[in-house]
Amino acid sequence: MNFILHLGLGSFHRAHQAVYVHQLRQQGDTTWAIAGGNLRPDMAETIAALQAQGGRYTLETVTPQGERSYTRIESIERIIPYQDDLAPLIAAGADAATRIISFTVTEAGYYLDAANQLDWANFPDLRADLAAVQAGRAGHTIYGGLVSILRARMAAGAGPVTLMNCDNLRHNGDRSRGGLLQFIDALGDAALKAWVQEYTSSPNAMVDRITPRPTPDVAERVKAATGWNDQAALMGESFIQWVIEDRFIAGRPAWEAVGVEMVDSVQAYEEAKIRLLNATHSCIAWAGTLAGYQYIHEGTHDAAIRQMAYDYVTDDAIPVLLPCPIDLERYRDVVLDRFGNPAIADTNQRVAMDAFSKIPGMIAPTIRDKLARGGSFDSVAMLPALFLAYLQRWHAGQIPYAYQDQAMDPAVAHAICDAADPVAAYAADTTLWGEMASDPRLIAALRQAFARVQAFVAERAKSTG
Ligand code: NAD
Repeated sequence: MNFILHLGLGSFHRAHQAVYVHQLRQQGDTTWAIAGGNLRPDMAETIAALQAQGGRYTLETVTPQGERSYTRIESIERIIPYQDDLAPLIAAGADAATRIISFTVTEAGYYLDAANQLDWANFPDLRADLAAVQAGRAGHTIYGGLVSILRARMAAGAGPVTLMNCDNLRHNGDRSRGGLLQFIDALGDAALKAWVQEYTSSPNAMVDRITPRPTPDVAERVKAATGWNDQAALMGESFIQWVIEDRFIAGRPAWEAVGVEMVDSVQAYEEAKIRLLNATHSCIAWAGTLAGYQYIHEGTHDAAIRQMAYDYVTDDAIPVLLPCPIDLERYRDVVLDRFGNPAIADTNQRVAMDAFSKIPGMIAPTIRDKLARGGSFDSVAMLPALFLAYLQRWHAGQIPYAYQDQAMDPAVAHAICDAADPVAAYAADTTLWGEMASDPRLIAALRQAFARVQAFVAERAKSTG
């Protein structure tokens, strides 16, 4: 038996990667299974429920037409409970049967700046992790965690392993590998660096399936449909896609047999996904929150919000992605259909989070490309302008849910909102804009877009009385 060790046993892994391995096993190919756990003491209840259920759980999927199906996923053979010293995770990673170490630690879990350098100055978690590893303790970021695991693997002579990133991050394999090597450099561990360079590979991948945080009604529907009182049930849309570069140094499951696209380069797919799906999703979540909606599908069906999303994609995102082997206009329309699915009931809260990593990762690149070509970028400027209005509401304590942002320094965010000229202060933030910070063209476009957003908010406030 070959194992994939997965770090970050959140909803997405269980609705996506675990499903493909499950489908292979259903076809009779039982050569691969998954072991998984978390690097941090998150979601203890779900982990305990999964452990009690032998790693099994029910996935509910819903089509845009509202048809629901239920599958019991049985590919996660080992649930590794959290322990502060990560000893069980390290042991699993150092086992020769583990041939792939995969991870989903969120976009905010990589701590890279616009130049792909580890941003030591802005992320205390990263500095604390380095200090912990230097002091001989386990690391709890993806970098410190991988260092702890890979050092043990190297010492055990357990052989090569693929490091497979499954987060929504541009060039996710290359960039997280770069971050890992920089972390190892900071440790001064030349032997580990040489081992990682020789014995690991890091394919880039594009992952796609909308997977909301499971709410209690999912377990109720699962009980009604299957009779199983599943404490770890979850739901996702019926759409699923995974495109991976075929660079696996120690073998891989025969994923192509279950619809995974194995390619030489994932670049066109990831750019289309990040700019047409992820950035648009954030646009709808921020605008929807400002308009008083709770769910993504509500904003998607609001004509004014849908138009903002549509114009962003049509005017600014598609032109800079051409030429492209993907039919981008069709991609845009399918994405808006998927977002409009009311049965998904995905919340603005989930999608709105982590703007301080999503703006530089998903939105600023389109502005950068547009600036390089000259001409207007008014439609893409609406997205960060929506977030500035959202941030001002957060500053005033008026967001109706907890806003989570791992890359945001709250003091900096409050200072932007308190500034005499908030647009200029926002445009000056280097976490968001990198080398474009304070570019007069950026300030002008944001100022104009922010005025449009304020008019939108005022009009909604009037109509809701
Ligand atoms: P989740 O909240 O259910 O799980 C998050 C996981 O990340 C947990 O296992 C947590 O322990 C881990 N984590 C969070 N911050 C971390 C950090 N700084 N260091 C180490 N581990 C950390 O979320 P999810 O729905 O599983 O989504 C996780 C990621 O998967 C997303 O951020 C995205 O990159 C990718 N993704 C999600 C979806 C979706 O629709 N949910 C779709 C495509 C891709």
